[in-house]
Amino acid sequence: MNKEFWNAEVETMPREELEIYQLGKLKEQITLAYEKSPYYRESFDKAGVHPKDIQSLEDIRKLPVLTKKIVRARQDVKPILGDLTVVDEDQVVFISSSSGSTGAPTASPFSKRDFDEFQDVESRLFWQAGMRPNDRYIHALNFTLFVGGPDVIGAQNLGALCIWAGTIPSDRLIFLLKQYQPTVIWTTPSYAWYLGETAKKQGIDPAKDLSIKTIIVAGEPGGSITSTREAIEELWDAKLYDFYGISDIFGACGAACEFNDGIHIAEDHMIVEVIDPETGLPVAEGERGELILTTLRKEARPMIRFTTGDIVTCTSEKCQCGRTHKRIKVVGRTDDMFISGGVNIFPSDVEHVIREIEGITGEYRISLITDKHITKFNLEVEREETANLSVDELKKVVEHDIKSRLGVKPKEVIVLKDGELPRATHKAKRIVDLRKEGIN
Ligand SMILES: [Zn+2]
Repeated sequence: MNKEFWNAEVETMPREELEIYQLGKLKEQITLAYEKSPYYRESFDKAGVHPKDIQSLEDIRKLPVLTKKIVRARQDVKPILGDLTVVDEDQVVFISSSSGSTGAPTASPFSKRDFDEFQDVESRLFWQAGMRPNDRYIHALNFTLFVGGPDVIGAQNLGALCIWAGTIPSDRLIFLLKQYQPTVIWTTPSYAWYLGETAKKQGIDPAKDLSIKTIIVAGEPGGSITSTREAIEELWDAKLYDFYGISDIFGACGAACEFNDGIHIAEDHMIVEVIDPETGLPVAEGERGELILTTLRKEARPMIRFTTGDIVTCTSEKCQCGRTHKRIKVVGRTDDMFISGGVNIFPSDVEHVIREIEGITGEYRISLITDKHITKFNLEVEREETANLSVDELKKVVEHDIKSRLGVKPKEVIVLKDGELPRATHKAKRIVDLRKEGIN
């Protein structure tokens, strides 16, 4: 029960050995894809590359990337699982499905082995976040179609007492937190903040009256933003761990460790690449680029060079925890990035700055506008009731700090009262695009 790692051999494997393992599995996965999936055969042939051309991990770059758009289109070619799927439907035991908010929903199929391995990875990541069999875990994630739902099974397989809460109204959730005193919860960063604030308004101090000591978050960059993380940790008197998942692969593909310096990706199950989305070339270690993932062990549907749409930085340096698997930090979604004054800006860049300013609540909203055909942004923040600075003074501080850290000033900073911005119950919507179509 007190072992340090869930699977020490895999998690601390020397990189040289890990890469030999990855190359062997990569060859198998690519051969499977080429032999069984009409899509992969067609796309590899078109790119003039054959599985036998993959002789090193770097050779993966010879293969075409796979976008969500392709996955969606190929689902229509062969309903319902698409022609990237390499097994018959009777071997598929589970599909998660995207919400369809950015197009037709896509199904992500798992064989029995895929599902069991998915849950073993979840157990590993929960263990890494300090969960042990004597913990009580409350799973406050959506169960409907969402790939994060079944992650609770990973906690159960680890031996924790699991409470399948799902996304219930916050009053009900606070009641459960009081009643059952769970020690670990999983939610989004913005909801962790909202829930703590709401409990406080009801006279319940999350730090003193509740037993949560570990908060697991995913789905937004907040968990990797030091100032946001620390604010949530203080509110709850708990330690926060950031997880990273993607419905096309696993509910969580990686998690932070106790040193909180990036998310370790389970590299025995997938290959991590970080590329420049414009050129498709790999970026230097530590530079920002788009995260590309390739599965190594998927039986139902291999995902070869899947473009996640997440902008990350990555390091392969060994972590203080002893784990050798690469660590990523998520900066934001490619869709959320905007360019103003020649600077690439993510909402998380703004969040970094404003979470450090005294006297504002930390909630914010960015509105993109066009001014003489140029993209500019307005920034709304909220003044805390107890703030020492006036509205005008806060406005100046926010303007100054954004300009000095990001290199570009908001067109206008609007200081609202505490509670005027909408609170997120799932993922916070931080950007409103008010630009006229076709102009940016
Ligand atoms: Zn670590």
